[in-house]
Amino acid sequence: MCAKAAVASRSAASLQSVRCSRKYRVHHTRIGAFKRSGRPLKALFSIVLVLLSPGALAGWQEQTEAIMGTRVHVEFFADSQSGTDVLMSEVMREMHRIDHAFSPYKPDSELSQLNSRAGKDWVVVSDEMMDLLTKAHQIAELSEGAFDVTYASVGRYYDYREGKVPDAETIQAAVQAIDYRYVERDRRGSRVKYGHPWVYIDLGGIAKGHAVDRAIDILVRAGITQASVSAGGDSRIVGDRGGEPWTVGIQHPRKTEEVSALLPLTDTAVSTSGDYERYFEKDGVRYHHILDPNTGKSARGSWSVTVLGPDATFTDALSTSVFVLGSTKGLELINRLPGVDAIIIDPYGQLLFSDDLTDIAN
Ligand code: ADP
Ligand code: MG
Repeated sequence: MCAKAAVASRSAASLQSVRCSRKYRVHHTRIGAFKRSGRPLKALFSIVLVLLSPGALAGWQEQTEAIMGTRVHVEFFADSQSGTDVLMSEVMREMHRIDHAFSPYKPDSELSQLNSRAGKDWVVVSDEMMDLLTKAHQIAELSEGAFDVTYASVGRYYDYREGKVPDAETIQAAVQAIDYRYVERDRRGSRVKYGHPWVYIDLGGIAKGHAVDRAIDILVRAGITQASVSAGGDSRIVGDRGGEPWTVGIQHPRKTEEVSALLPLTDTAVSTSGDYERYFEKDGVRYHHILDPNTGKSARGSWSVTVLGPDATFTDALSTSVFVLGSTKGLELINRLPGVDAIIIDPYGQLLFSDDLTDIAN
C-alpha cells in the first residue's frame, strides 16, 4: 500500500508532489512556505470539519491514558457505536498487560524475573518474550550492535529523575556485559540465559512499538479501517482520517513549542527517538536515555531520529538504532531497507532525509 507522507521541512525549496517510489507518496514544502500559504490552517480546518460533521462525530472514538511511563492515545472510527467501549477497553487492557510484562521497574514483571535469574541459569519465557527478544536480536545484527538491549547493564546505573551518572569505574566494569550476543535463546525449549553474569536487559527501545502493533491488531481484527494508536514517540496509523491524512508532527529537539516537520500519513508506522525525551544536564553536558553500547554513555550522533516503516516494533527499534549510529551510518542502513524512510535532525540542527525523501527535499 502506498502511504502518503507530506514533509514540511526547512531545507526544501518549494511545494512539490512526487509519485510514490517505494511506499510513500510524499508532498513536500518548506515550513515557512507552509505557514505563509496557510496550509496547516487549512488542514486543521478540514480536520475540525471532519470532527464536526454529524456522521463522523457519531463514530470517532478517542481515549488517552498514562501507560508505560508515557501518554497512550487511541483513536478510531467505528461504523456503529455498539461495542466500541468494549473495544477501546480491550485495547487499553492490552497496553497495560504489555507494560506489566515488560517493565523493568515492576519487580514481578516477566522482564524483571528474567533479569534476576538468567545470569545464573536458563529461564523459561513466554512466546511473546521470545518473539520480542528475537526481533531485538535481528535489529541488533542489522544495526551492528547499535541497538542492543543489554545496554542496560550500564543504563541501569543512570537515574534521569535524580540526575545521577554512574562513576567511571562502574561504567568501565559494567560495559563488559553489553553485548546482545550474551542473550542466548533456546527457541525450542522456550528458554533464555545470559552469557555473562552482569547482563541486564531493558526493552524500552522496542516494547512501546510492540504495544502499538498489538493494539492495532486488535482494532483491525475488529474490522476497524481508520485508526491511530500512539505511545509516546511511537505511532501506527491505519487508513486515513475521514478522507484526510493523519498529521504527525516531529517536535523541534531544542524548542519544545515548535515542530520541525509535519507528516501527513496514511497506513504506516512512525517512531521518533530524541535526546530531549529523558535527560538532565550537569556541568553543561546533556545526559540522555539513549546509550551508545560501545561506551555506555549517551549517544551524541543525533538530536532526533524519525523512522517510517511497516510496523511500529520495527520503527521503534530502528529509530533508536539510527540515533546511535548517527546520520551517515544511520542513513546508509535506512537506504538499504525497502519500505523504510527516515528524517534525522543532526547535532547541528540540520534536517536530513533518507534517499526517497531527499529526492523531494531538493
Ligand atoms: P522513547 O523511549 O523515548 O520513545 P526510544 O524509542 O528511542 O525513545 O527508546 C529509548 C529507550 O530505549 C531508552 O529509554 C532505553 O530504554 C532504550 N535504549 C537506550 N539505548 C539503547 C540502545 N543502544 N539499544 C537498545 N535500547 C536502548
Ligand atoms: Mg525507538
